[in-house]
Amino acid sequence: MASTADYDAPRRPVVEFDDDSVEELKASRSASHPSVDVDEAEGFELPGPDASDEELTAAVVPMKPDEFRCSRCFLVHHCSQLVDQQHGEDICQECA
Ligand SMILES: [Zn+2]
Repeated sequence: MASTADYDAPRRPVVEFDDDSVEELKASRSASHPSVDVDEAEGFELPGPDASDEELTAAVVPMKPDEFRCSRCFLVHHCSQLVDQQHGEDICQECA
């Protein structure tokens, strides 16, 4: 029974200290995380419209019915360039 009393003594300050640090961590996390996320989300969209525009125009290629997009180089080729189909993926002549 004496040992339990000995354990209680050093534990109390440790628990109190942990509570404080956890609360501080929670506070700093909840305070910094949302603001960082919002900053990043807005920061990526607002200052870089040119970059996203370029990516969009590059990715959204008007594809004709007789064209296909290679699964490896992601370039649109004419059907005559389609030389291989692996697992439903179209592979162009250059990548085959
Ligand atoms: Zn290719």
